[in-house]
Amino acid sequence: MPVTADIPMPIQVVIDDVGWWSGRNGSADNEPYRTGIARDHVPADYQAIVDLGRATGTRPQAAMILCEWDKENILREVPTATWMGASWDNSRRVGPWMDEAAAIMREGREHVELTLHGVGHEYWGGGRFTRAEWHDGEGRMRPRDEVLKRLDCFRRILDQHRLGPFPTSFVPCAFMHRFGGGLADILRDHGVDFISTPYHSIFGLPTPRWRWFDFDGDTMTVDRPGDRFDWHQIGQLPSGEITHPTVGMHWPHVLHADPARNGETVAAWAAFLIEQGRQPGKLLARDNNEFRTQLAHHVCTTRTLRDHGLDLDVTGFDRLPRTHLSLNLAIKVTAPDKLIFTGRGMRIDAVARDRSNGSVVHTVRIQADPARSHARLEWQVDQDGFSS
Ligand SMILES: [Zn+2]
Repeated sequence: MPVTADIPMPIQVVIDDVGWWSGRNGSADNEPYRTGIARDHVPADYQAIVDLGRATGTRPQAAMILCEWDKENILREVPTATWMGASWDNSRRVGPWMDEAAAIMREGREHVELTLHGVGHEYWGGGRFTRAEWHDGEGRMRPRDEVLKRLDCFRRILDQHRLGPFPTSFVPCAFMHRFGGGLADILRDHGVDFISTPYHSIFGLPTPRWRWFDFDGDTMTVDRPGDRFDWHQIGQLPSGEITHPTVGMHWPHVLHADPARNGETVAAWAAFLIEQGRQPGKLLARDNNEFRTQLAHHVCTTRTLRDHGLDLDVTGFDRLPRTHLSLNLAIKVTAPDKLIFTGRGMRIDAVARDRSNGSVVHTVRIQADPARSHARLEWQVDQDGFSS
């Protein structure tokens, strides 16, 4: 069996519509779609996300909707942000479950990333809501002052529960978004420099310059495939292959109708993700920084298998805007035997080994030398390693 080596495709989980306390789809009554499940949300639903992150050694993005976390009714100041407008009253959603869930998110922050999704998810102008919060169905951004007020409210509601800092990533509500339309610039002023959303629903996006991503200004904008399940289906057990870097889902998918049994759904997702991440061509990204850098190298860094090594050329990567991109990347080398590695034009930071189907999959984390455009990873069989 020959040795194979490649820069694997990173995998990042993104979970939409986290933050509702009611699960009810209220769209027939001028209320939001919410998560569309037949029960309220409970702190155990937040624990499920953290547990998924911990079990997989990753940091799933929880794309948050925060209006039902508003315990001071500040959203009265932005009447288009909720179905109650200027008489917004969230008192029935306020209770000790908020502190409990906030503590879960704070204590679990190594294994969950808060992502900006929205405040009320839709836009209530002239009575009836239209979709969606940040752009309308024709890709027109909502008025700039409304956008700014929502971002301010999002920050203040985070502060009400000590859930900050403000996120650095964003998922547009109802995937309504315009590339180059100004929202990415406003968000970047607030520290958000990463967006994921389905390309097919983006207005104004030219043919992406890189297979799965492009840059709106300096903001990496990454494609997302359709969910594996309908948005409101609860307790879904995944199967099949992950063929795309972003694994988008909606909150109910990873929960259970009985929240005491959330762990069963989480375990199925964790097993699925781990099995996919062990494959030679894929890598579970540990966090969003690793994801964006690995994705950039997966697409842009040229690699050539030659003799007992892999030649890397980062010239294509060097042409990208460098927002949170680095020369740290992972290479997977699959061989019949345990290998040891040396690098030229790079530093080897870590080597992990995993036995799979009779071969050894080595995950080699390197940092390429920023002063050079070429690097080479070489290997040889570890003569002491047969028994390990
Ligand atoms: Zn949503």
